[in-house]
Amino acid sequence: MSHDSPPVRRLADWDHDRLGRLAADHGTPLYVLDLDRVAANYERFAAAFPDAHVMYAAKAHTGGAVLSKLLATGADIECAAWGELHRAIEAGADPNTLQYTAVNPPDRDLDYAVDLAADNPGLTVTGGARDTFDRLAARGYDGRVAVRVNPGIGTGHHEKVATGKDAKFGIPYDEVADLAADLADRFDLVGLHAHAGSGVLHDDLDDHCRAIGKVADLGRRVEREITDLEFVDFGGGFGVPYREDEEPLDMGVVGERVREAVGELDAQIKLEPGRYVVADAELILTEVNTVKETPAATVVGVDASLATLIRPAMFGSYHPIRNVSAPDRDPEPVSVGGPCCTSADVFCTDRPIAEPRREDLLAVGNAGAYGYELANQFHSQPRPAEVAVEDGAARVVRERETIDDVTRVER
Ligand SMILES: *Cc1c(COP(=O)(O)O)cnc(C)c1O
Repeated sequence: MSHDSPPVRRLADWDHDRLGRLAADHGTPLYVLDLDRVAANYERFAAAFPDAHVMYAAKAHTGGAVLSKLLATGADIECAAWGELHRAIEAGADPNTLQYTAVNPPDRDLDYAVDLAADNPGLTVTGGARDTFDRLAARGYDGRVAVRVNPGIGTGHHEKVATGKDAKFGIPYDEVADLAADLADRFDLVGLHAHAGSGVLHDDLDDHCRAIGKVADLGRRVEREITDLEFVDFGGGFGVPYREDEEPLDMGVVGERVREAVGELDAQIKLEPGRYVVADAELILTEVNTVKETPAATVVGVDASLATLIRPAMFGSYHPIRNVSAPDRDPEPVSVGGPCCTSADVFCTDRPIAEPRREDLLAVGNAGAYGYELANQFHSQPRPAEVAVEDGAARVVRERETIDDVTRVER
């Protein structure tokens, strides 16, 4: 059974010969996506919350192959932009099952959601500002809405993702009940929603559960004073170990802790993991093109860059790196960086890696979440191809861009 799959996949667990063949067939840098692992991660998560409704937060990886696989696995999809709604539907999602979380939504996004809801009244729109609800009403919308709560507690791996204490996200906790009373008159108020942070591991679980408890309290209050709710959505944020010595979440424990934090609640619990589902299901293969010894460091140049994977530059994120051509060579402390002309284009500094030599293949792990999703064309670099492996077979699910793709919209 796939929910018996190991709770973490390290780079050493990938079939190195196969990775070598994929790089030879498709070139580098190359995203390699294991769709079976995506499904197994979702199933392990869902199994820990048998009574909850678990949706996949699409923005972690919106690739059609990922969305189709998860839909086939039984997941529903949470979207945070019109383009994500569009891609979820393209992948086969029933629009009636979609949840759209609007954050400072441009008109285009609201128009799209309102049009969609006209034929698909099951769609739920979550708002985090009074403006958003007023703008929905101005479009004649009186359908399903949820209120995004700002729990006042943020958690996670980096300040920039601790959304739960950032005023940008959600209605201030103390104002939610009043707003909910108003919304219950104007719309079909079906839920509360909160998403406190990202990358939560065991050390952050206390804070995360505190935020969950506060939102559950609010859910009980709304149910008591205003209206029955269909669901209270506690968001995503569940982390994966990026460092080799970090332990994965024990989902049995997490399930228990979350249920304990929620307590008695008539409404259904909803959760929407993104990162947890896709992070360790994908890696990047990159070829060494330069090995330069300097008094300060040994600099290893590769063909992937911050355009391929921006998380180290943007969040200071650690990603595991392994020499998959020669994992048994003696480790040497090296800095690994790409071809972009900024000091931020570095995947690691002074990290022991089995001595990289020119033409070696390195794997950069845990690239499935916010990896390809944040890839860009800096330095006029076409974005890499993405190959999916599934049931023992491999297929290209995203072609390598060409230079024409980079210039296509120029006039
Ligand atoms: C980003 C996001 C998620 C997923 O967060 P992860 O940390 O990837 O699990 C879930 N819900 C909402 C509303 C989000 O914006």
